[in-house]
Formats: sequence, structure tokens, C-alpha cells
Amino acid sequence: MEFEPVIGLEVHAQLLTQSKIFCGCTTQFGNPPNHNTCPVCLGMPGVLPVLNKKAVEYAVKVGLAVGCEIQPRSLFARKNYFYPDLPKGYQISMYDRPLCTGGAITIETSGARKRIGLTRIHLEEDAGKSIHHADDRTYVDLNRAGVPLIEIVSEPDIASPEEAHAYLSALRTLLLYLGVCDGNMEEGSLRCDANVSVRPAGRKELGTKIELKNLNSFKFIQRALQYEIERQGEILRTGGKLTQESRLYSPDTGVTSSMRSKEEAHDYRYFPEPDLLPLIVSDPWIEEIRRALPELPLARKDRLVREYGLPAYDADVLTSSSGLCDYFETAARASGNPKGASNWVMGEVLRRLKEEKAEIADCPVPAERLAALIGLVSAGTLSGTLAKEVFEEMWRSRRSPEEIVRARGLTQVSDEPELLAIIEKVIAAHPGPLAQYRSGKEATFGFFMGQVMKATQGKGNPVVVQKLLKEKLRGA
Ligand code: ADP
Ligand code: MG
Ligand code: ZN
Repeated sequence: MEFEPVIGLEVHAQLLTQSKIFCGCTTQFGNPPNHNTCPVCLGMPGVLPVLNKKAVEYAVKVGLAVGCEIQPRSLFARKNYFYPDLPKGYQISMYDRPLCTGGAITIETSGARKRIGLTRIHLEEDAGKSIHHADDRTYVDLNRAGVPLIEIVSEPDIASPEEAHAYLSALRTLLLYLGVCDGNMEEGSLRCDANVSVRPAGRKELGTKIELKNLNSFKFIQRALQYEIERQGEILRTGGKLTQESRLYSPDTGVTSSMRSKEEAHDYRYFPEPDLLPLIVSDPWIEEIRRALPELPLARKDRLVREYGLPAYDADVLTSSSGLCDYFETAARASGNPKGASNWVMGEVLRRLKEEKAEIADCPVPAERLAALIGLVSAGTLSGTLAKEVFEEMWRSRRSPEEIVRARGLTQVSDEPELLAIIEKVIAAHPGPLAQYRSGKEATFGFFMGQVMKATQGKGNPVVVQKLLKEKLRGA
């Protein structure tokens, strides 16, 4: 029997607020353990939480960007549990009255678009971190306790590990565009639990779901899902039964293993948080947040194709970050040559950034200067090869392309008489290859081309050289 997978993702994203969600402690990453703490996030008796308005604004921003309905009135709830790294003994979260409901994230896999429905987005506080030390003890760092999180819960609309990857990638890009999360999976700012079940192909009812924890990279998520789908299929095919549970994926072995039987909602004894008022968000505030939304990745991608006539592939790469896309658009407009700008950004610019592990914000070549360089190529002043050399020097010296061309006497030679003189000299010096060419061995042309370009020190305009060389070799 054939089985098909059904996947739903629960993503936690840390919000980039300066302070924690219910106290004034900083959210700064990397401080000494337990440095970012106060009586509130340490769970001392008698303290009261105060809601961070920025966290609500960011959650609403995400909700609006994915088409959620923003609830005018939502409720915080206590989720009770033994959390070794959350000293209150409960997490302040949202339960039956979340801030955002509905919405969808559009994904693209092999060119086709699909909407993955969202169930909800709610606000909650992060827990601290348990650090399992080599000395066999476990230490607790509460710097993270109380950092604001949004949890984004998808409908079980995801049909393959590839779609799960595309969903996470689209969500991550969106959060970065909105500037509400840094998207760093290694540092844990973006975390994902994956729920997966299988069912006989074509059947409506959902199978028993397994929750996969501890997935801290896109690669692991895809692999863990792949493994789990095969494991579940195998159990069902051999007449076995699955029970709902949480499983842990080990990147080392590539295998999932049972962690605990899955808690039911009633195990958490959720109840409305008595220390916080209902969360009321007003329409005017929602509209204000909506007006400040930036152009979103997919809309921007479609616009690049429409407005600049770029191939979908280019638009995809260029919209992977809003900073990169801003850079491209500046270069495209200033040069009047969008495809040229796209080629340069996707090629040399990204290559050099990657080499230096730098972000576009750190690019030493401003977009306007790249546009000037593109202009020099279009005008025939620089050949493609020379332009790459000039780019490299622009990168290193932070000088303008015109300055570099002038200082190094790099201007391309298109003057026909000057080139003809060189070509004649080269041909006269190689009677053997000339005879071969004239006897029909066309491949010798490349040899002559190389010799002439060398003789011009790379400055010969290749188009003109090619034309003149052909004529001369034919005996004109
Ligand atoms: P829980 O209460 O156990 O957290 P939820 O109903 O909140 O379960 O669902 C959690 C996630 O699991 C959601 O993303 C949802 O889409 C997904 N999910 C629910 N049922 C299934 C299933 N049978 N197979 C795969 N995913 C599922
Ligand atoms: Mg859940
Ligand atoms: Zn605090």
C-alpha cells in the first residue's frame, strides 16, 4: 500500500525587541549566564508581568503580512509544566484566544505556488536554557527566559519534506523582511517542531501524528521528516500501530527516537493569566501597522519580473533579502541596464560577499558605483574581463571605476587601424597556424584570438578584434 505524508509545522521565532516580553531586562544575546535577569523573569514571588508593546506590534505585523485576522481581544494563558529553565513553573502563552488566526504562507516548489494555511499566531515567553556540561552537571542560564516569541502554527497542509523546507524558507525570509526576527537557527532565534503523519494515499482522515523536536537547521528538518515518513510507512505496512508521541532527531545518527508520549492540552492545566489584562488591539493601531508594512518578498519578486523583465530565477535570488534587492534596484535604475545589474549582483557581488562572509550592508562597492562600472562596459570602454578586474580593485580600494580606469590606463581599444596593425604583426609571426587555418582548421582561430588579445594586454575590444581577425585570416 502507498502512504502519503501529512506535515504541520510549529515555528517559534524570537522577536527583535530590545527588552523582554514581561520585564525590562535586555534581550541581548551572548551576555554572561544569568546576566539578563530580574525578579520578574527569575520568577520571584510577588512580582507582576508588564506587557511589552513592541512585542505585540511585531506579532501584529507578522499577522498582517500573512493575512491573519487580528483579534481585537485576546488572552494570555498559563501553561503549567515542570520547566527546569522557567522558574515560575508555568509559561505565559496564549491558548484558546490567540492574537492572530487564519492566514497563509505561499510557498514555491519547482516553480509552482501553493498556499499553506495557518491556524494561528500567538505571543508567548521563551524559557531559559539548560546547559548540559561535560562535568555531568546541568546548569541553567535564564538570559533567554522571558524573551518574546511568536509561535506560528500551520495547518496540516504540507505534503512533503521539500514543501516543509520551502515553507520555512519563505517564513524566514518574510520575518527578515519585516525586521522582527534575525532568523538565526543556530543561535535558536528561529526554531521548528515538525508534526508528521502518514495515511493511505488519497484518504481523507489524518493518521496518528508524531512530533519531531530539536530541529535546528533546514537540512535536519528535511532529513528528519524523510526518515520519519519512511519509518511510519514501514510500521503500517507490516501491520504495526503508531501512538502519538514526541521524538527527537539525532543529526549524528540520522535517526529519530522516542522522547516522551505527547502531552494533551489538558495536561497543561491552561487557565487565563490572572496577572495580565485581556490584550486589546485597536483598529487604528492595526491600520497604522499595516500602512508601515514593507513590500513583501513574493510581491517584490513578481514586480522585478514585471518591471525589469528579469527571469524568475534572477528575481528569486535577488529577493532573498530586502537589502540585496534594494542594492540591485539602485544599480538597475542608475545604470538603466537591469539584466546587467542582475548579472553583476548575482555573480561578482554575491561571490565576493560569500568569500568574506559579509552581508550586503557591508559591501564596499556602493550600488551607484557598480552602475557606473556597468555603464563603462555598455559604452565599450571596458571589456567584460577588464571590468571584473576593475570591480576587484573597486572592492579593495573603495575607489570609483572611472578613477581606476584612468589610473591604470585600462581603457579598451576599439580603434580599427590600431588593432589591424597588431593583428597583421601576429599573423606574420605565425605562418604555420595561418596555413592550418586556411586549409580548413577553424579551431586555429581561437589561437589567433588569444595571441592578439595578449598583444593588446587584454585591452582590445573582443568584438572588433574578432571581426578584423576573421577578415585578415581569410586573406582580405
Ligand atoms: P497539539 O495540540 O498536539 O500541539 P495541534 O492540533 O495544535 O496539536 O497541532 C499541532 C501541529 O500539528 C499543527 O501544525 C497541525 O497542523 C499539525 N497536525 C495536526 N494533526 C496532524 C496530523 N495528523 N498529521 C500531521 N500534522 C498534524
Ligand atoms: Mg500545539
Ligand atoms: Zn527580567
